[in-house]
Amino acid sequence: MSEFRFDVVTFGEMMQMFVAETPGPLESVVRFAKRTAGAETNFAIGMARLGLRVGWASRLGTDSMGRYLLSEMQREGVDCSRVVCDGAQRTGFQFKGRVTDGSDPPVEYHRKGSAASQMGPADVDEAWLRSARHLHATGVFPAISASARAAAQKSLAVMRAAGGTISFDPNLRPSLWASADEMRREINALAAQADWVLPGLEEGRFLTGEATPEGIARYYRERGARLVTVKLGPEGAYYDGVEGSGHVAGFPVREVVDTVGAGDGFAVGVVSALLEGRTVPEAVRRGAWIGARAVQVLGDTEGLPTRAELEAAGL
Ligand code: ADP
Repeated sequence: MSEFRFDVVTFGEMMQMFVAETPGPLESVVRFAKRTAGAETNFAIGMARLGLRVGWASRLGTDSMGRYLLSEMQREGVDCSRVVCDGAQRTGFQFKGRVTDGSDPPVEYHRKGSAASQMGPADVDEAWLRSARHLHATGVFPAISASARAAAQKSLAVMRAAGGTISFDPNLRPSLWASADEMRREINALAAQADWVLPGLEEGRFLTGEATPEGIARYYRERGARLVTVKLGPEGAYYDGVEGSGHVAGFPVREVVDTVGAGDGFAVGVVSALLEGRTVPEAVRRGAWIGARAVQVLGDTEGLPTRAELEAAGL
């Protein structure tokens, strides 16, 4: 039995998402389907589906959206004991458009001043963090407000001091930051606290000034990362870690329905496999397989496999 209560914990904002049922500009769409969104909660759901013990810390309103999101997370088996539901605050939501050409769909956020963006360092329960073996963080939560950023910085510092491992997915959201320079500086400072850093190629280029996957990986390895995986879309991913470097090919995809969620699914595959003691190439392969599933569905989480599906695929 593990000495830890959780295999992994994460902080972040969950939003109700309205996904367009038809293509075209959002203002002309009449029918939307209700889903959930949030980089960290996508990750938490994926890990829980694989049977890992997952905890999530956040704030929600007590409006219908907050009640929906909380019940979805509980249904997925994620521990929500550190989710504060506050009747005085509103739950964030977003709209996502539909595209037919495999490009990134338009997304419109309504999250400014949301319950989760009111979180701050006082929301970081240190004992709860230390009850987990691993912390997963992304660049989204620190982008939603200055107090959330302070909470993210504190949670990474606490986990590092406790000796747990940390994974970090930059997940850039330029529209949430005051400037590109600030985004680059803050995201790189958080990445420097992590053991495993998971940038995409384009965001890695922006963050490091390096052009190639090798250069991007080197940049973070020189700043302390033990493993860097650079996501390459249909081409799979490049990895560079203490045990060596290499490339894992992408899994073939019939039709790209929606690219959102691929990076979160990739993180689920890599982090779950590493926590289970798999080798880095095995972990990246699992990540690439889940990423390829994620682009073939409309929502952000319906591509995330169960343990049985993972085993059936030999991963
Ligand atoms: P991000 O959205 O974080 O930039 P990617 O779009 O590169 O991440 O997707 C994450 C992973 O999902 C990739 O590394 C790849 O393994 C897989 N993936 C993404 N898009 C495709 C695709 N069109 N075909 C096959 N695999 C894909």
